[in-house]
Amino acid sequence: MPVFSSKALYAVSHLISRRMGSEEVEAHEVADHLMRANLAGHDSHGVGMLPAYVRLFIEGLLVVNQTPETVLDFGALLVLDARRGYGQRMAANAVRQAIGRARETGACVLALRNSAHIGRVGTYAELAAAHGMAFTAFVNVADHFDVQAPYACADARVGTNPFCTAVPGTDGGVAMMLDMATTTIAAGKARVAYNKGVPAPEGALIDADGNPTTDPTGLIRDHAGALVSFGKHKGSGLAIMAEVMTTAIAGGQRADAEQKGGILNSMLAVVIDTARLGGVETVAREAAATRAHIKSARVAPGFEEILLPGDPERRYTAERLRTGIEVDETTWSDIRAAAARIGITEAEIDAAVAG
Ligand code: NAD
Repeated sequence: MPVFSSKALYAVSHLISRRMGSEEVEAHEVADHLMRANLAGHDSHGVGMLPAYVRLFIEGLLVVNQTPETVLDFGALLVLDARRGYGQRMAANAVRQAIGRARETGACVLALRNSAHIGRVGTYAELAAAHGMAFTAFVNVADHFDVQAPYACADARVGTNPFCTAVPGTDGGVAMMLDMATTTIAAGKARVAYNKGVPAPEGALIDADGNPTTDPTGLIRDHAGALVSFGKHKGSGLAIMAEVMTTAIAGGQRADAEQKGGILNSMLAVVIDTARLGGVETVAREAAATRAHIKSARVAPGFEEILLPGDPERRYTAERLRTGIEVDETTWSDIRAAAARIGITEAEIDAAVAG
């Protein structure tokens, strides 16, 4: 399997976004996001998304250099419509605005509607944390065939609808962060399994008849079958409430609206300025106490250690900065093929990788 430095993955993403017509600032935002997702171990939301972005761009379902529309700016409420703008930039800029508002009002409720795929939601929690803000977000996925079968459903009816919540640490990062799809695995992880030709984990998928399967082919190739919600009715309930929070409250597009084959994310986020609530030091101290209390438990049989939310991503990042990042052959050839669709030569890709 080819192994790349994070710098090489950044360079390839940057090259592709620039050729799609993104301004420098946008190409940087996207490339940095994808590189960090790979570093964090979330290959589902790293450079493997580029072929989808190129397709969406060509089909007019992802708009580069988009200006979001401010729908409402009222006290702590900020409602923005991204109008299919390049998601990583739309979401980061929206969260930056929310951080500014939270500085004034103590908190901001941000509704970001109809952005092209915003990627790894944890990126925006990290952005908020870097400014001393706590962050909680519900996200839905629309304009895309449904992929999640809620509890007791034999058919998919919502997207992977992620949920993310984090508190800041004293080092400019997150003290603790939960960032997850409400399906047992993210859809991108089924894509990675399909590309690698390996089975998906047990209990993550159902086939077109609603029966459990580990074969991701039906879902990824034929758009039949579904990912199941994590945690039975509870994860399913969280996914459904994420759908309602991002549509009924935030005004984003619903999963059942007409689907053009894009990926539209809407997000309802709450950004809280911890400076008004004892400051980052107090928050980090409290989070550290909770961490210590949980880690003081005996390790359950069958486990090696106790990890807290955000620990795996921190470890992956440290390790991958050292060892590089493996990108499977199928994903890498899909990226090269996507680059060729927008006129990038093999030599240009090789030059970007070589730095
Ligand atoms: P995951 O299952 O790898 O991790 C989920 C959470 O559990 C993380 O916070 C992680 O730190 C924690 N965790 C993992 N293993 C742990 C362990 N052993 N002990 C304790 N905590 C542990 O993540 P996922 O559900 O596959 O989601 C992957 C990414 O996909 C996320 O970044 C999410 O934002 C993103 N996503 C985006 C969209 C979108 O449409 N933009 C949709 C779905 C998911």
